[in-house]
Amino acid sequence: MNRRMGTRLFWAVLAGAAADLAGLGLIAAAAWLITRAAEQPPLAALSVAIVATRAFATGKGVFRYAERLTGHDVALRAQAGTRESLYEALIPPQRPRHGGADLLSRMVDDTDAVQDLLVRCLLPAAAAAIAGLAAVVIGLTILPVSALVLVAGLVLAGVLLPMGTAAAARRWSARIAPARAALAGRVADLVHGSADLAAYGADDEALARAQAAGEALAGLERRQARVHAAALAGGTLVQGLTVAGVVLLAQGAGADSVGTAVLALTSLVAFEPVLPLAAAGERMAGITAALRRLREVRASAPAVTEPAAPGPRPEAPLTVEIDDLVVRHPAPSHEERAGRPALDGVSLRLTPGRRVAIVGPSGAGKSTLLAALMRLVEPESGRVRVNGVDLRDLDGDDVRALMTGLTQDPYIFRASLRDNLRLAGPGADDEALRRAVRDARLEEWVERTGWDAELGEDGRTVSGGQLQRLALARALLYDPPVLLLDEPAEALDEETADRLMGDLLDVTRDRTTLLVTHRLKGLELVDEVIVLEEGRVVQRGHHDELVSTPGYYRDLWESEVLTRR
Ligand code: ADP
Repeated sequence: MNRRMGTRLFWAVLAGAAADLAGLGLIAAAAWLITRAAEQPPLAALSVAIVATRAFATGKGVFRYAERLTGHDVALRAQAGTRESLYEALIPPQRPRHGGADLLSRMVDDTDAVQDLLVRCLLPAAAAAIAGLAAVVIGLTILPVSALVLVAGLVLAGVLLPMGTAAAARRWSARIAPARAALAGRVADLVHGSADLAAYGADDEALARAQAAGEALAGLERRQARVHAAALAGGTLVQGLTVAGVVLLAQGAGADSVGTAVLALTSLVAFEPVLPLAAAGERMAGITAALRRLREVRASAPAVTEPAAPGPRPEAPLTVEIDDLVVRHPAPSHEERAGRPALDGVSLRLTPGRRVAIVGPSGAGKSTLLAALMRLVEPESGRVRVNGVDLRDLDGDDVRALMTGLTQDPYIFRASLRDNLRLAGPGADDEALRRAVRDARLEEWVERTGWDAELGEDGRTVSGGQLQRLALARALLYDPPVLLLDEPAEALDEETADRLMGDLLDVTRDRTTLLVTHRLKGLELVDEVIVLEEGRVVQRGHHDELVSTPGYYRDLWESEVLTRR
């Protein structure tokens, strides 16, 4: 936390404490006023107390407002800071171990915990401590022994009870989380497997299982709620007993009615900011777990280290030289040693306008090569240079602005067709959008669908071919100096794939392109084909040379030609 945050936090605590103190002062002044007024003194004797009561009442509202304002300001800034550092920890997006849904929950729920930690736990605890202290000081000045009872009550309700609720919450969440996961699993089975369940008459049994899981969860939650209610009632009980104890002590010591009333009411009010701490303790259990998960994400080492002083972004046209590149992925956490390199001494040269295709069996290292070009993985040795500048001396974002393109699994956002394209060109005018759509041969579909049609989940269904063309239109709109295409025809039926590849080779003519593909048809149009196997270049040359040389490429070509007949 930096100094400015520290100052803001200080003001928030101060405002919270001032609000609680004003509440305390209000009750003390009002208690004095009412009991003294009963003795019917001249009005002048009450005037100070009347003004004080009004001032405390107004001050309480004003300070509470200031506390909410400053407290939430600090908390939201802290949450934004946490989100930002989390984003930074995740970009480049090559972090092992954390899957999409898990990450999403860390981004949203766990960073909320940072806000709750400040607003619901630390600030109220600090303000409650200050208000409690003030009440104890008031007690000390009127009847020291009553202050002892008050301290005992406050410690019980404000320290021991929250510690107990925190421990109970940890235990309960350990029992409830698996029950909730079990119910979610059963419901997911019901929703996604409804057709199969109906087809085999297994729906009643599945429903019964889901219901049993729901009841088990409800049972646990009911018991947790009972414990929660008992803890809150316990706090109120401690408050009542403390006030009763203070009154008895005051009467035993022969205190006058004014002093007794002030003591009793300040003790009562001192508990007001303290009682919510039991619920805060409960929340603390979830918060510490969330903070631990956030630390885990931040602690995982970045896949690539950004240069301390990145050089200027090279200007197009670009020449990319890859020399003797070796890339080894980190070993999965359950294995000790990293395996063989994913790329093992690959060299290639992309001059402006040149198109190179990379082919090879699955696992050969094709995607790793593209990742190395986008600076998403760190090479073990060898280097990639762009116009003579080592990629490691460039800013990662600059690199991806120069070399990017079609990802293997393009994503359709829940947004209009126009916005789905604009992702790649926020400033693009309608003419540029239309040109990209035309070049990706998507014109007819766009006319039919409409630019404003909502795509994405629950929206219009997009076929595999249309999805790839939409992704191609995005890439064309972005228009990077070096276009990277990762298996654009993957998972398409033969006819659609052929058409897409044909159009793609047409539109990339004269563009510097690196094309990863498993389909060889049309590759006679590219300048060079490189065959990768187990991370090594095993063949390279023009399509015509490769089909006349025995090897992987000719075998694949022959089987492709055979299946086409
Ligand atoms: P291709 O694209 O040719 O199918 P990849 O480049 O995806 O091949 O993979 C090359 C090798 O690197 C494979 O053995 C694969 O298991 C491994 N690999 C790829 N990505 C990772 C990763 N993020 N972590 C660990 N190993 C990986």
